[in-house]
Amino acid sequence: MDQKQISSGRIRRLVINPDSRLRRLAQPVDLALLKDKKFQELMVDMAKTMLVKDGVGLAAPQIGRNWRLIVVNTDEGVWPMINPVLSDLSSATVVEEEGCLSVPNVFGPVRRAKELVCHYINDLGQEVHLPAKGTLARVIQHEVDHLDGVLFIDHLSQ
Ligand code: ZN
Repeated sequence: MDQKQISSGRIRRLVINPDSRLRRLAQPVDLALLKDKKFQELMVDMAKTMLVKDGVGLAAPQIGRNWRLIVVNTDEGVWPMINPVLSDLSSATVVEEEGCLSVPNVFGPVRRAKELVCHYINDLGQEVHLPAKGTLARVIQHEVDHLDGVLFIDHLSQ
């Protein structure tokens, strides 16, 4: 997704905790929607909203859409991930501080797998198998949690 596309996007209103829309199991995206202009706009708007709000990731339930769709801000740009599934989570874990655009002003340590592989469909409809570690692995786990109705505050480490 390129910068020009993203700059044309609109900022969507964020769903703020507590809200039952953050606690639902999100539904798989029908890939026929990839050709739908409204769905394409949704992905662009999610990217724009994430960047404007200084987020590193955003999940569709955070703007009130109950779909298995996330956007992640990487060193190489914003990547939409449709129907993401995680595998090969490392037994090695790391604890780091997290926050969330839907849980303002709350930060806390969360233990996450250090490495994983994320399988998803990109905005061009291509199947991607992305090995991730470090911050990227953490952000992906945080965002995929949102698709299962889970917030980072549910598993704060002591
Ligand atoms: Zn979040």
